[in-house]
Amino acid sequence: MNNMPENRLADRLIDRINNVGFVSVSEYMSACLSSYYSNKDPLGRDGDFITAPEISQIFGELLGLWAAETWNQMGQPGSIKLIEPGPGRGTLMNDALRACKALPKFLDNLSVHLVEINETLRLKQREILASHNIEVHHYGALSEIEDGPSIIIANEFFDALPVRQLQWHEGNWVERGVSYSDGFQFCRSENSVDNEVLQQLHLLNLKEPEDGDIFEYREQCSSIIEAVSRRKKTALLVIDYGHGESGYGDSLQAVREHKYADVLSSPGHADLTTQVDFNQLARFSETYGLSHFGPMTQGQFLLMLGLEQRLSQLSEKATEDQREFLKAGAIRLVAPEQMGVLFKVMCIQTPDLPKPIPFT
Ligand code: SAH
Repeated sequence: MNNMPENRLADRLIDRINNVGFVSVSEYMSACLSSYYSNKDPLGRDGDFITAPEISQIFGELLGLWAAETWNQMGQPGSIKLIEPGPGRGTLMNDALRACKALPKFLDNLSVHLVEINETLRLKQREILASHNIEVHHYGALSEIEDGPSIIIANEFFDALPVRQLQWHEGNWVERGVSYSDGFQFCRSENSVDNEVLQQLHLLNLKEPEDGDIFEYREQCSSIIEAVSRRKKTALLVIDYGHGESGYGDSLQAVREHKYADVLSSPGHADLTTQVDFNQLARFSETYGLSHFGPMTQGQFLLMLGLEQRLSQLSEKATEDQREFLKAGAIRLVAPEQMGVLFKVMCIQTPDLPKPIPFT
C-alpha cells in the first residue's frame, strides 16, 4: 500500500498538535495543499477535479482575446507580460495564445510568465506551450516577476490559497483550528485574534455575529494584492467560485476523484478549497491603492466576450459529435445552475490603466 506520504503528513501534523496543542485551519490547509500540489497532476477526468479551460477551449480563447484587447487599451506597450498563477496543465494559456494567432502584433510583444510550485505541471506547461515559439518563464511566486506592463489571469487559483477561519465565541473572534484525539477534529483557540485582522474585518460591513459564526479570512490574498500594487500598468483578472458580499459560514471543502470528501480524514490527498470572498478582495485592493471592477458572473462575462459567436464559428467546421461536445462545454460554463453564476470575475488594476472591458 502506497500511503506513506499521507502518513507522513498526518504524523507531522499530529506531532505539531502535540507540541503546541492546535494548528490553525490556515496552517492545516497550507500543509495539506503543499503536499497535495507538490508533484501530481490533480486535474481532468482521471484526477480529482476539472476546471473551465479543461471543459471548453472557448474559455481560454476568449481570455486570450480579452488580454489582447486589454493590451490595446493600455496603449499597446512594446513589451507585455502575460502572467498566469497556477496554470494547471497550461490549457488556458495554450488556448489563449492560439486564439491570438490572428493578432501577430500582440504576440510579437508578448512573453509568458507562469507561477507554479508543481514540477509535474511545470513540465506539462512547457510541453503544451512549446509550439507557440514564445518565451515561457517559471516562478515560485508572483513577487519574483520583473515589473512592467502585465496582464495576470488567475483562474481557480485564489480558492486554493489557505484561509484562516475565525469563530465568534462569547463576544470575541477566536482562531478555529484542528486538534487530534483518535482522529483530527475542529476546535477553537482560547485567545482572541490579533488587532490587525479585527481592523480588516471592520472594513467588510459584516452584520453582528452570533455565537458560533465563522468568518473566512484569506490573508495570502493581501500579499498577492500588495505584489500587484508594487507594479506599473498591471491588470489582474480573478476568476473563481465565490460570493460578492462578505458573510459568515464554513465553506472549506475537500474534493477527491470528483466527489466531496471529508476535510480532515486524509490530509494531503484531496483538493482543499474555500469560496473566494470578492468583497474582501475589493477591500484589500483599496488598501493598496488599486482599482477594482466587478465581480460579474462568469456567465455574463463570457457572453459579453462573445461566447455564442465563438461557439457558432467553431461549430461550422465541426462534426456532429464535436458540435455536441462544444455546445455542452459552453453551456456548462455559462448556465446559471452550473458554473455561470457561482463563478465570478473581478478585475483589479493599477490606477494607471483605463477601465477594463467588459466592465462598463
Ligand atoms: N488555473 C488552472 C489550474 C487550477 S488548479 C485551471 O484553471 O485549470 C491550481 C493550480 O495552482 C495548479 O496548477 C497548482 O499546482 C497551482 N498552485 C497551487 N498552489 C500554488 C501556490 N501556492 N503557488 C503557485 N501555484 C500554486
